[in-house]
This record gives sequence, structure tokens and C-alpha cells, in this order.
Amino acid sequence: MRILVVEDDEMIGESVVDFLESEDYAVDWVTDGQSAILALRTTPFSLVILDLGLPGLDGLQVLREVRSRNDATPILVTTARDTVDDRVQGLDSGADDYLIKPYDLDELSARIRALLRRSAGRADPVITRGLLTIAPATREVAYDGKPVILSSKEYALLTALAERPGVVWSRNQLEEKLYNWDNTVGSNAIEVHIHHLRKKLADNAIKTVRGVGYILET
Ligand code: CA
Repeated sequence: MRILVVEDDEMIGESVVDFLESEDYAVDWVTDGQSAILALRTTPFSLVILDLGLPGLDGLQVLREVRSRNDATPILVTTARDTVDDRVQGLDSGADDYLIKPYDLDELSARIRALLRRSAGRADPVITRGLLTIAPATREVAYDGKPVILSSKEYALLTALAERPGVVWSRNQLEEKLYNWDNTVGSNAIEVHIHHLRKKLADNAIKTVRGVGYILET
């Protein structure tokens, strides 16, 4: 899952980015509203963490621009403004959730999981697909009842495939989910991760659709 952090405060931005990377998300960070709009026009993100008080275009303007394009990416607004009016205005401008600064990183993490679950149309906090189960809250994975230990990228790749069952993912789409702008991605990186996942789960757990991409076998 790839997350865009929009935050002009260096210290908060760094701590949020470090924390999200430790939770196996691919993270990009911009510090102003214009860059946020550009990023969202060019890159598919699973979720945005948006500060309201930004230099230039503020967070509310970013929200309105994104929603006016009918972009439904989940947006979690964070702000030091904590009047009811501010919260109402944020939600009415298209925010999906709200956190008042200073906030706890574990709460941020839980709210992200809830938003991702909702945007995938899933009520159950555990993802179950055939023999596979994934518990995002603990990042525990099991296949055919047995626990499976995955690397951070393997976990991210498997979650992407499992979150949208029946969808064939191209290599390019998977790279965009797993790597941020700073990463140089080797041309066979996805193939290597798929190979490892098949070894750890089962040979037929992930199908190759020739010339198109990969799909989870359910
Ligand atoms: Ca700010």
C-alpha cells in the first residue's frame, strides 16, 4: 500500500514517514498543497494523510480540488485546529477521517487500517481469500492454517493482490503500489517477490496471466 503524506512541519513529517515505513507502507512526502495536487494527479495512492495548515494552497483547497475530479482516494486530515467548525468543514470538503494534533502514531495506524478496509469494501478486519488469511492489525499471514513469515515487500505485494480479488495486476501497477519515488526498482523485482511468495505459500497460490500480470488464486 502506498501512502502520500502532506505535511509542512519537518519533525512531524519525518516521524510519520519513519513510522509508516516501519509498518511496511511505501511512503511519499510532500510539504505543500500544489505538490500534493500534482502527486495525486500522477500517482495512484491507497491513502493520503493531509495536514490542513499548509503554505500556499491549504489542505481544504487540496481536498476540494481532489474531490472535484471525483478522485475517491481515502483522505485522513490532520490538523492543530480543533474547533467543531474546522472538523465539520474538513469532513464536508471530502475528508474521510480526522485526527487532531498532537496525535498518537498507533491511533494513526489503526485509523489507516480502518480507512483502507472501508475503501476496499470490506467489513471484516481479517482478509480471507481461499486458503489465505491476512490480519493487517498484526500483519500475521497464514496459508492453509499454517503461519507464513514474509518480508516487508512480500507482505505488501500479497496484501495488494488479496485486497482486490479477481483483479489482474500488471507488473507496473504492483511496482507503483510497492515503491515510492525514491526507489530505483530493478526490472525483475516483482517477479522475484512473486517467486518467493509461491515458495512460501504454494506454487499455484498466485497465477501468472501471460502478457497481463498476476492474480491471486482463490
Ligand atoms: Ca502545517
